[in-house]
Amino acid sequence: MNIHTALKNGQSVLQNYNIKSAELDSEILMSKAISKDKKYIILNSNKPIKKSELDYFKILIQERAKNNPIAYLIKKKDFWKYEFTVNRNVLIPRPDSEVLVEVTLKLTKNRNNLRILDIGIGSGCILISILREKKNFIGTGIDISNKSLQISRINSHKLRVNNRLKLYKSNIDNFRTGKYDLILSNPPYIKKYDLKCLEKDISFEPKEALDGGYDGLSEIRKVIKKSSELIKRKGYLVLEIGSNQKNKVKKILQSKGFYIERVVKDLSNHERCIVSSKI
Ligand code: GLN
Repeated sequence: MNIHTALKNGQSVLQNYNIKSAELDSEILMSKAISKDKKYIILNSNKPIKKSELDYFKILIQERAKNNPIAYLIKKKDFWKYEFTVNRNVLIPRPDSEVLVEVTLKLTKNRNNLRILDIGIGSGCILISILREKKNFIGTGIDISNKSLQISRINSHKLRVNNRLKLYKSNIDNFRTGKYDLILSNPPYIKKYDLKCLEKDISFEPKEALDGGYDGLSEIRKVIKKSSELIKRKGYLVLEIGSNQKNKVKKILQSKGFYIERVVKDLSNHERCIVSSKI
């Protein structure tokens, strides 16, 4: 069988399973199976595909047919300007979260040697992107999941910020180390009840990274409370939030002594990020 035929077979399997981007996904998985880029596939579509590669391709297609996200199958995802390693132990980096990187870089434009804490660092995509841009910033990342810390560690080495990033396994309630100029977090903020209704792909992602309890705010509350203790005076707290949580989160922030600086929208025009500062 040649590459072209295998590709089309893969595409039709995905179409039968109602995968929306069947053509593109089949191409991406082919490129993974034969370890070649898209250009090679176009120029060599008449070449025969090796049996071992075809078998691997079929496995990948079967997994995608079950809605396993592309990022987990190819073990990487682009975010900001970089490629991050991911697996099922971390949330897949979302373009929406790039807003947090952008806002943080604006806030710290003329600042040097800042200490930044990321609560629930996951793959590390947010903090590592910032450390890449600001060469004299020092980062600390905490996460409850050891397996996710393994991934952020891999990414910190891959993007060469490992000498400026400390990682701790800790839940937010027990963490007491240091004082920070800026704290950022993309905590789990989806209502427990809504989790079941999300797209099928999301069911492959770690629940602990998504489940915000009955009102979606239980982790956000903990992050704000703890940040009020770990942040320096006039330090910034940059938080990702769900699309209709703005007013409730504003109230929680104000009750813990934060002043609301601004609310920033994501690419889909949802209010996605609240910036506040410690009075
Ligand atoms: N933005 C993610 C989603 O909608 C949720 C991330 C989170 O809970 N922090 O799938």
